[in-house]
Amino acid sequence: MPNLRLLFFSFFLVFFSVHSQEDTPIARFRRYLQFKTAHPDPNYADPVSFLISQANAIGLQARTFEFVPSKPVLLLTWSGSDPSLPSVLFNSHLDSVPAEPSKWIHPPFAATLTPDGRIYARGAQDDKCIAMQYLEAIRNLKAKGFTPLRTVHISYVPDEEIGGIDGCDKFVNSKEFEDLNVGFVLDEGQASTVDEYRVFYADRSPWGLIIKASGAPGHGSRMYDNGAMENLMKSVEVITKFRESQFHIVKSGEAMNSEVISVNPVYLKAGIPSPTGFVMNMQPSEAEAGFDLRLPPTADPDLIKKRIDEEWAPARRNMTYKLIEKRANKRLPGPPSNDIDKRV
Ligand SMILES: [Zn+2]
Repeated sequence: MPNLRLLFFSFFLVFFSVHSQEDTPIARFRRYLQFKTAHPDPNYADPVSFLISQANAIGLQARTFEFVPSKPVLLLTWSGSDPSLPSVLFNSHLDSVPAEPSKWIHPPFAATLTPDGRIYARGAQDDKCIAMQYLEAIRNLKAKGFTPLRTVHISYVPDEEIGGIDGCDKFVNSKEFEDLNVGFVLDEGQASTVDEYRVFYADRSPWGLIIKASGAPGHGSRMYDNGAMENLMKSVEVITKFRESQFHIVKSGEAMNSEVISVNPVYLKAGIPSPTGFVMNMQPSEAEAGFDLRLPPTADPDLIKKRIDEEWAPARRNMTYKLIEKRANKRLPGPPSNDIDKRV
């Protein structure tokens, strides 16, 4: 029996050491997931080093640009047989949205692999899987001896989750980008639950909308007009109705989620704090709400601004607002048009 136990122990050690050093697509993906790339303090240096080592291993050239200090854009290049042709660019972002570790089954940056094959990690779908799929696809193609006709670039950009102003925005407006002579770009889309990729040709512009109401403060027992909370709640009602009208179009099958204007409340800030929560018999003089607003390329930004001015945060109800336009909303000329199947 002792020998058998020893044998089992040795087997376990060998098994464990092989698996802890394995270099498979899943192992590489998990390593990439373990970098803490969540806002507000994303680690960019370590994942960039990791990606460069991956690029070196499969023979891709790597360059980094720092248009803004400590916010690197990594560019990998696979030279095509005819470099004079416009190139192909695959993009993904390095950063992730924040995670609340206490609400997770497994720590958000442990990349835990469960026996049923699931991997838990913040940013796994959005969009570290894309970053690694580009590399794995190229690795496989190279192993088969394939050389692309056009040069292929992969870019890894910072700060996408907070608007990309210091990342992709600077990159696409740079001389370095112009020199790439890009003819086609593929960026992130949406996760698919089946073995099919869905390709989209448009993205919505994200806006942050903060509406603020002010009014006379008053005792909780009094009923009076034009209180800050009342004004804010009227706006919330109007915005909710608009949201329902847009969502109805999606639910009835007339349009996809990405083709309507979405507006979702993300925070409410009001009330007078007390040691136990909020003062319960006082109406505050200010109340605020934040919304995530997304416009498809077909929506007219000026019409939405007019709606905000006149209905969502009108001065006549003592309201002001702040609009954070993270990206310019403009429709570029040329196809695709509506007659192209959107689920290519
Ligand atoms: Zn993303």
